[in-house]
Amino acid sequence: MTDLLFRQAQVFDGSGGEPFRADVAVSAGCITAVAPDLVVTATQTVDARGLALMPGIVDSHTHFDAQITWDPTLRPSPALGVTTAVIGNCGFTIAPCRPADREITMKNLTQVEGMSLDALREGIDWGFETFPEYMAQLRARGSAVNVAAYIGHSSVRTYVMGGDAARRAATPDEIGQMQAIVRDAMANGAVGFASSTSPAHNGEGGLPMPSRLASDDEMAALVGAMAEGGRGVYMLTKGGHTPVPFLESLAAATGRPVMVAALLHNSVNPNAVFADLDAIAAANRRGRRLLGQVSCCPLTMDFTLASPYPVEGLASWKPALGLAGAALKAVLAQPAFRDAVRAELATPTTFRLFNSEWDKVHVVETADPAHAHHEQRSIADIAATGGRDPLDAMLDLAIAEDLRTVFTAQLLNSDEEAVGRMLNHPHSIVSLSDAGAHLTFFNDAGFGLHLLGHWARDVGAMPLAEAVRRLTSHPAEVLGLRGRGLIRAGFAADLLLFDPASVGRGPKRRVHDLPAGASRLTTDALGVHGVWVNGRQVADANGLLAQTPMAGELLTDFSASAAPA
Ligand SMILES: [Zn+2]
Repeated sequence: MTDLLFRQAQVFDGSGGEPFRADVAVSAGCITAVAPDLVVTATQTVDARGLALMPGIVDSHTHFDAQITWDPTLRPSPALGVTTAVIGNCGFTIAPCRPADREITMKNLTQVEGMSLDALREGIDWGFETFPEYMAQLRARGSAVNVAAYIGHSSVRTYVMGGDAARRAATPDEIGQMQAIVRDAMANGAVGFASSTSPAHNGEGGLPMPSRLASDDEMAALVGAMAEGGRGVYMLTKGGHTPVPFLESLAAATGRPVMVAALLHNSVNPNAVFADLDAIAAANRRGRRLLGQVSCCPLTMDFTLASPYPVEGLASWKPALGLAGAALKAVLAQPAFRDAVRAELATPTTFRLFNSEWDKVHVVETADPAHAHHEQRSIADIAATGGRDPLDAMLDLAIAEDLRTVFTAQLLNSDEEAVGRMLNHPHSIVSLSDAGAHLTFFNDAGFGLHLLGHWARDVGAMPLAEAVRRLTSHPAEVLGLRGRGLIRAGFAADLLLFDPASVGRGPKRRVHDLPAGASRLTTDALGVHGVWVNGRQVADANGLLAQTPMAGELLTDFSASAAPA
């Protein structure tokens, strides 16, 4: 008996090949047959005429580590076609964590990933201390989609070094203790080891996130520990002191794939990202497997000056980090502070979120009705009208409104010609949704639908079948997800039914459904008719099902393939 039968779907099977008309039969969570006009009796039949059926989207860059403990549905991803989410990216995990380090872990997440501290304090279920205990908790609770978890460098470092983790290099003994934790995590089902050396990644009080303090020797030792069993992906959001040649040396030493984030296009320094992709391509020619995580979404962030993520990575912003209220306003008002920020912004660098593109920063919402005439105007425009410097214009407006003015900044990835080339690069991987993080700044959990609708259909940057491949079998193969990412008999029934004519993501909107009433931005799916995880439906045309089944599996058994593409 077949559980579920899709009739007459246009099947995009995930391989990148031409779509074909077929029926798809599902039993016990697996695809059992793919062929035209199957003769079977099914418990449930879905009329898929005129619609496309593809494997579910694999989101390789999420930060659901905390949210999953209070919201195992992982809103909003399942409704946006995601059937597998990889958590722990950048190494910003919540396990392992000693009870004494919970507060600093939550404060770090608040700073580095823009998660509401109140929501984290109220929401996180701390029923674990070690990584294996965290995995056991996830397994017991279940989740709406499949989940794979990295062991995170900053958490491992904090577990071993306590408060020193964000302040100094590790001793050989401490590195040995960290290696033991990484080994143990791999034995308990981690998909790999994730870290960050990015100067944009600051924790509580403006201290660097712990992994940024790691020496090259520490990094090599931990990636080596990950690779001992012949499995695992090394994921890194890289900063200047871990350039691609260093990452290639780790790939060469371990034979394991390296995922390099965050390759975003910067209009002010337009060649930097292509230089990284060229270096990655050269490494692949030498037999290493490196991939650049690229995004198909323009990086746009909503922010207030009370928590201005786009500029908090600037060295000159340090005096303001960790301050609030009157103390923060006093620093933002200082001419010397502003001069230092202007000087830094005028200096070229390899990676910077905000690059003085004042015409791409707009006032969304003012707090004082007297300033309402500034809404929807750019800072460049407001400054020009007043004959003023743009930084002064923005900070003065914010200070006059008690830092409640909401701004939006189009930061990176807005040059569509360049982004189209990145998306088609042979060694890029479409990723970087950051789902679960930066919730008040942006929400790209619908990146997959955006690739299908905007890039494949509207822009024509790639065939729809190639867009499907890049969202499904490609990440599944890189991550070693067994039996996922293709519509083939024997593969898991992770499926997305959609209308190619209307698929996409809707406009962003703000909802207040986080613990402690905290808000987040979200987008709704367009053109999605249904999402199935292991053969069970989790979303329909109206979004997440009211009683979402915990249909996902905690993925812990990964294949060892690591050959260059
Ligand atoms: Zn990240």
